Amino acid sequence: EKRKLWRLRSVAAITRDGTSIDLFANIELPQEVKQAKEYGATGIGLFRSEFLFLNRENLPDEEEQFEAYSTVIKGMNGAPVVIRTFDLGADKNLKGAYRIAPNPALGLRAIRMSLAEPGMFLTQLRAILRASSQGQVQILIPMLSHSREIDQTLQIIESAKQSLRDEKQPFDETIKIGCMVEIPATALSLELFMRKLSFLSIGTNDLIQYTLAIDRADETVAHLFDPLHPAILRLLSRIIQSAKKANTPVSICGEMAGDPKYTRLLLGMGLQQLSMYPTQLLAVKREVLDCHLPDVTHLTQKILRADEPEKIHDLLQKLNN
Ligand code: PEP
Ligand code: MG
Repeated sequence: EKRKLWRLRSVAAITRDGTSIDLFANIELPQEVKQAKEYGATGIGLFRSEFLFLNRENLPDEEEQFEAYSTVIKGMNGAPVVIRTFDLGADKNLKGAYRIAPNPALGLRAIRMSLAEPGMFLTQLRAILRASSQGQVQILIPMLSHSREIDQTLQIIESAKQSLRDEKQPFDETIKIGCMVEIPATALSLELFMRKLSFLSIGTNDLIQYTLAIDRADETVAHLFDPLHPAILRLLSRIIQSAKKANTPVSICGEMAGDPKYTRLLLGMGLQQLSMYPTQLLAVKREVLDCHLPDVTHLTQKILRADEPEKIHDLLQKLNN
């Protein structure tokens, strides 16, 4: 069984009806690129850069970050690499940098923290931009939810670019900036984000947490964390449809993307780019290879109309058979 899966490593991820699907890897540290390639990832869909810097007293300087990003980019040999700016705060914290917030999941986290620490943010952006001259890099902003945050973020990126131009340092002038869709407010006002940004990546871990009001780190409510809740399925479908209509690339990088029991459902909703832990890639690829999109799309519409959990589960089983 395992050996059979292993043979799929170098097989292209194409559905039975001929649609090519991008299967990318989520990584937390540069040395994981090796594993991502071993499992056949054709890009890095999510580099969680904050993991470089956890459990340290001080932030790494621009040079150290540049080295880390360069390692990933060079390791991928020109394949796409999506670097997410720090998602610090909440569950991932710098040692002693901030006191624990009253409600970390709703507090100074991710882009909110980066905008509150513009010096730190500028250093990271300069490092990413410098590394962008070595491959195909995109910048992904976590937890973006407000129009003003988009503008402030784009302004800081522009000043990072300008400082590099002044120093005659090379970087990719056309680098694409996108955001995570992981807060319901973002999902429900997506046009605003698509007007100002170039791509979207759906973070189901947080999107489910915030939509269902289930703390993703609290075991006592883990049984209520449900990717198949009709509200979640409909929200996902809505995001994907809006993005298609606006011609904005959309991918998914939450845990849901790496669970093979959801692969056909996600393809049926119209996704063509999935990013996951490298060890999940082959099981998901097997689903892609078995999938006939027109059939799957039809059943997915039925699932989206259902709202009884039993009905949704029955239909999903049918979809996966
Ligand atoms: C997510 O929220 O789904 C996601 C991919 O980001 P993280 O798990 O790092 O919050
Ligand atoms: Mg998230």
